[in-house]
Amino acid sequence: MPNSYSMTARDSQRDLYRQIIDAIDDCVIVTAPSGLIREVNAAAARRFGAAENTLRTTSVEGRVEAVDDGRGWPEIRREILGGGSYRGRVHFRFNNADESYCTLTGHRIIGDRDEAEAIVLTLRDIAESQKVMIELEQKNLEMARMNSELVRTNAELKRVSELKSNFLSIASHELKTPLTSIKGYSEIIIENMKDAVNASVFRMIESIARAADRLHKVINNMLDVTRIEQKRLRLNPEQMDLAVAARECIEELGQFSTKRNIRILCDFDENLPKFYGDRMRMQQVFTNLLSNALKYSPDNSEVRIRMFIEGGERFHVIVIDKGIGIDKSEQTRIFDPFYEVGNALRHSTDFAKFMGGGTGLGLSIVKGIIERHGGRIWVYSTGMDEQTFPGSEFHFVVPVQPKISWDDNETRSISLSTIQDQEAAGRAAQLNEHPDIKPTILIIDDDREAIEICKMVLGAAFDILVAESGENGLRMAFTRNPALILLDLYMPGLDGIRICRLLRSQDETRDVPIAFFSAGTQSDEVQQCFASGADDFIVKPFSGKELIDKIWRLLMKKKETEMPP
Ligand code: ADP
Repeated sequence: MPNSYSMTARDSQRDLYRQIIDAIDDCVIVTAPSGLIREVNAAAARRFGAAENTLRTTSVEGRVEAVDDGRGWPEIRREILGGGSYRGRVHFRFNNADESYCTLTGHRIIGDRDEAEAIVLTLRDIAESQKVMIELEQKNLEMARMNSELVRTNAELKRVSELKSNFLSIASHELKTPLTSIKGYSEIIIENMKDAVNASVFRMIESIARAADRLHKVINNMLDVTRIEQKRLRLNPEQMDLAVAARECIEELGQFSTKRNIRILCDFDENLPKFYGDRMRMQQVFTNLLSNALKYSPDNSEVRIRMFIEGGERFHVIVIDKGIGIDKSEQTRIFDPFYEVGNALRHSTDFAKFMGGGTGLGLSIVKGIIERHGGRIWVYSTGMDEQTFPGSEFHFVVPVQPKISWDDNETRSISLSTIQDQEAAGRAAQLNEHPDIKPTILIIDDDREAIEICKMVLGAAFDILVAESGENGLRMAFTRNPALILLDLYMPGLDGIRICRLLRSQDETRDVPIAFFSAGTQSDEVQQCFASGADDFIVKPFSGKELIDKIWRLLMKKKETEMPP
């Protein structure tokens, strides 16, 4: 009985072990030291597709091959029996239809006689995880490829954006030069030759002048957008009254709003503090927002502008209209350059038609200016409806005293060159106190149109000398005793800056007033001109009034310095 008892105990222990190895998901194979299969667990039997007893006559020999070095069973067996264990990645052939990629762990079992009695092999299928790994690797490679593509696309986009900005800037400058003559000639005709042309021609000239003005505005807008995109928008800040600036813009728009019977109401807090900002740029903001409000309002309606201090430290301005409104989906995009809302383009009222719309640049410039002052702009509207007119509210906030570094300041010369002096016309004659002796103005410029305008505007009071090259200009400057020199910044051969330096270095020309002409107003260009010794800078296209005004100022200044104390 004790025998049968011990048999039963052994059996049940064996049963337990059997259950344990059957519960293992990996394939477990027990072989003789030769590799002859003795026992397999349930998972292995399933993979072999054969019952355990049929497997007992077979060996692992020929079924296994190491992935890394191609070793077969004899080498693996030797390693297990010699070193006690083996671990590696193998291809294992369970049957003709099932060969799998596995990790193989092999251990030898030492019996009572201190000899290897068996080998236990555990196979874990890694085909699935390998597949996932391969897929992951592929995905990684794909991502790396996409990443480098993104980097390339990004660089390309940056290049295209730079090209676009350069194109805009070059195109605008190139347009400004011919515009000088269109503006200049039409102004001359309008101001001085009204009686010389018949009424219908005169009206045509007036519309040419208006178109030139519009084109001038568009070009300036394109240049502003380029400056904003290239983060080159420079400010000329001063302590200013924001409410006064807004009222001035309202006054300018008065004609348009009255014609359509739209009242512009101001609701400004009293005792608003001074604002430190660029007056001209802030006026551009008000003009754009208010003219949009008028443009998209029905006739006989109302536009309101509110201004108050928020949190003691920032201005909050709201331009409220009762116009067609803006769809929610468009409310951020309208601040993008060149973006216009399709329906708005067809908008028209009894008095005004806006077919064709604007250029889609206004709000992007407004946003650029506000952000440049450290502020933020947004719009609120419940949606667009041309029947019910839900209206729009444009809000912006700017710090009362934005921090604007000196680097950001536009040089004073630029603000001087934009001064439009209404009284300047008619001064040409006064420029010369002795009409019988005409002083000489030397123009060093190869731009024929600009030369012709100067001749027409200044010809009555001055002798105009023209040099179309820098070298000739220098020769004339030294020999013809000019009272003033107008000098083009960009000339073939000797450029304006070098000519100016040379003029300043010689006794004959050291004190002669020199004004530069240029279509560009980049601050570094202007600074270079002044550094080379220029007295002023005239931006093309210039009007006759501007030219006379500048020349008058320069000559007056010279006279003052020459007067005995
Ligand atoms: P544009 O010069 O074409 O008017 P903006 O940049 O000033 O360009 O405006 C962009 C778009 O925003 C306009 O085309 C218009 O659809 C919309 N918009 C601007 N202001 C208003 C407003 N007050 N009411 C309704 N729509 C507006």
